[in-house]
Amino acid sequence: MKNTGKRYFNMEVEPLLNSPKMREIQEMKLRDAVKYLYRTCPFDRKRMDDAGIQPEDVRSFDDFSAIPVAGQAQYRQVFEETGGDLFAAYDVLFGKERMKDIHMLTTTSGTTGTPTPYPVFHKSVEAMGELFGRIGWRIGIRPGDRLAIGFGLSMHAAGTPHLYWFKNLRGLTLLPIGAEVGSERLLTLIKLFQANVLSCTPSLAQYLIERSPVVLGHAVKDLGIKLILCGAEPGAGIPEVRRHLESRFGAQVFDGGAGYGVSCHHPDYQGMHWIADDHCYYELVDPETGKPVPMEHGATGLAVFTPLEPDCAIFFANLRFTLNDIHQVFTEPCPCGLTGFRYKIVGRADDMLKVKGVPVYPAAIQGVINGFLPRVTGAFRIVLKVPPPRVLPPLEMRVEHGEGMQEGDLPGLEQEIGDKMHALLKIRPKITWLSPNTLERSVKKTNFFDKDYEQGSG
Ligand SMILES: [Zn+2]
Repeated sequence: MKNTGKRYFNMEVEPLLNSPKMREIQEMKLRDAVKYLYRTCPFDRKRMDDAGIQPEDVRSFDDFSAIPVAGQAQYRQVFEETGGDLFAAYDVLFGKERMKDIHMLTTTSGTTGTPTPYPVFHKSVEAMGELFGRIGWRIGIRPGDRLAIGFGLSMHAAGTPHLYWFKNLRGLTLLPIGAEVGSERLLTLIKLFQANVLSCTPSLAQYLIERSPVVLGHAVKDLGIKLILCGAEPGAGIPEVRRHLESRFGAQVFDGGAGYGVSCHHPDYQGMHWIADDHCYYELVDPETGKPVPMEHGATGLAVFTPLEPDCAIFFANLRFTLNDIHQVFTEPCPCGLTGFRYKIVGRADDMLKVKGVPVYPAAIQGVINGFLPRVTGAFRIVLKVPPPRVLPPLEMRVEHGEGMQEGDLPGLEQEIGDKMHALLKIRPKITWLSPNTLERSVKKTNFFDKDYEQGSG
């Protein structure tokens, strides 16, 4: 039980996160990372050659930002050029040198088309133990705890890597159960093995609340889970969802993912603390122009990642790679007192709308709507009269009101929702009310849009 009281898992690095000293370390590492990737990685070399940049040209962050950002679309192009031979594509994307050392490949779950590869090189295993040691320690995992892995274990980028992530948290016991077994077996095994930490998607955690009385004959709270580490989808960052999970489980809920970060113990959600400055360079760029967005308190942009030690990269293995997520960053110290700038996921770049030139993300609208449960069901659509991203103001929405709402209550509710959206998102939508369960529910990706422009002008 030694070191139980220390502040950080890594007392040498973590106090330096988000500091000028760390920026110096990053700039130095970045120069070497660029040289390494230019030498070994055909994909990155071509991107630099196309932009007319040689490794020795990159001396500062500014020089570096001239390399164009790449994402899933550029990966897809390589898969096409290599005729669907996955490993020919990986040789191009990651380079033969690192592919000789490939230890594990995982991917995103359930998406269509070519899956995004999340490579783990043999040398990455140590780095994983380090970074997730930091995350685990921050959320309060301690010797003697037992962690039930409730993410998918079949090729899932958040599942199987757990076996390495927490290797350096000595005294923690892992229970690799996996989401695939279904809620009944998951609950039974959590109880049998007396897990007190659970990692899973927020939607699975919500489902376990409903299933526990049926499967185990008691409330989920009686399992004695003290911590839940959520990820792979938004939810744990939405105050209402988080409160619901915390009260029903009697546990603290943490939000992790979309990079190397985790939320903190502060009672109000403060975003996720980025804990990997020494391992991965984080930038924001404008999603439309690709120009750098300064890392200032409250800034919003497309999150872009570059491994600073590419031979032990985890997941992000290329220069300036994006998952297409829009983040907002908070660089001022967190009231919780822990280091690391913070980021919140605002939405997906490909879902972005523009209302009178102001970017608006459907996920942010969803966050506001969910704040009005149970007066709404949470189901809604944004009506698009012209192809996105442009929206002719006012933004129109179809929203399901909750069960038991009276006709006469709806104008007042529309006013309240409008006020909240205006304060947070600078828009005031026009709402058409629908009865509960009018809109089709999707099991996979939430459909935010009614594309009225596809049905002509009517
Ligand atoms: Zn904090």
